[in-house]
Amino acid sequence: MSKASEVERWRKLIQSLEREGILHDKNVKEAMLRIPRYLFVSKDYRDYAHVDEPLPIPAGQTVSAPHMVAIMLQLADLRPGMNVLEIGTGSGWNAALIAELVKSDVYTIERIPELIEFARKNLERAGCSGRVHVVPGDGTKGFPPKAPYDRIIVTAGAPDIPEPLVEQLKPGGKLIIPVGNYHLWQDLLEIIKRPDGSVKVKNHGGVAFVPLIGEYGWRG
Ligand code: SAM
Repeated sequence: MSKASEVERWRKLIQSLEREGILHDKNVKEAMLRIPRYLFVSKDYRDYAHVDEPLPIPAGQTVSAPHMVAIMLQLADLRPGMNVLEIGTGSGWNAALIAELVKSDVYTIERIPELIEFARKNLERAGCSGRVHVVPGDGTKGFPPKAPYDRIIVTAGAPDIPEPLVEQLKPGGKLIIPVGNYHLWQDLLEIIKRPDGSVKVKNHGGVAFVPLIGEYGWRG
């Protein structure tokens, strides 16, 4: 496919998400136009990057569908200067979008070495490696060296809300996380930490993510 038609197909997808009312935040739209998903998938899937479905990435994982990425980024309500942690780097695409929205450094944790390498290469190629720091490890424990966070975005499904993530939020901070009893079916939760440390939980309905595996997640 020519470069021009790839750009055009991506632009059409963004327009259709906007028309359907899924993508309504101007900043998220601009970030998604500037940082297309086709830069974050392997050659075999590049022709399908504009299709609004999750796509396979190495190690049996997935890069989320564009509508799901838009929904989570809009819920996170990211603004310049925010300190954000992402858990589940995968391809690096969502982390690159976060960095574009907060215009500062972003830390993202991944547990699978093959994906750490895959994401770093993608970020480099997309020109986003300067601000996105891919950290190897178990993200269910958060990342204390850079805490507290304004936002924590988890892109894998957890059995419960991991306590360390709530602890590492600032008062008024927000955690976006899929939580469910089944590996591939969760509720998308928006968790807001009140100044007294308690939390308010809003449920945004059913989603399907690969499992969050770790000490405060599913046992691998
Ligand atoms: N955000 C990614 C992107 O933009 O491509 C998609 C993430 S994929 C749906 C979920 C990722 O979470 C997988 O790469 C998986 O290896 C990772 N993961 C699962 N449990 C984890 C954990 N405890 N810590 C860090 N990463 C984890």
